[in-house]
Amino acid sequence: MAGKWAVFRCVDGRLNEPLENFLRSFDVPPNHYSFTLIGGTKDNFRVLTDLEFAVSRLGISRAIFVQHTDCLAYGGRIMCGCSEDADREFQIGEIRRIIDDIRKIEGLTSWFFLAHIDDNGEVSFEEIDKNK
Ligand SMILES: [Zn+2]
Repeated sequence: MAGKWAVFRCVDGRLNEPLENFLRSFDVPPNHYSFTLIGGTKDNFRVLTDLEFAVSRLGISRAIFVQHTDCLAYGGRIMCGCSEDADREFQIGEIRRIIDDIRKIEGLTSWFFLAHIDDNGEVSFEEIDKNK
């Protein structure tokens, strides 16, 4: 796919290898710009500031956002009563909290994913939202 890509993700190292494999399967070029932030989209202001820079100065036209379960920036799964379902709902809420502001940025195509990190450290990806 044409256009420069950016990936916004959490610092959590458990995501590294699974996310790289996932991005490759998604045809994201290996030279994509990577924005690694504590808690992913947790700090909306920071994400939007970096994203506006990415679009206006770096020429980014496609961005992928990855939130994940058991995120220690939020206290981990324990803050959701150790429930994967509650954790999933919480993190989807975190995506929904910023999605409208991201969609206001012209010239940007965005995809939103939730990475599920299970108790064995296995990672799987769920598409939450996409615009074309
Ligand atoms: Zn995290």
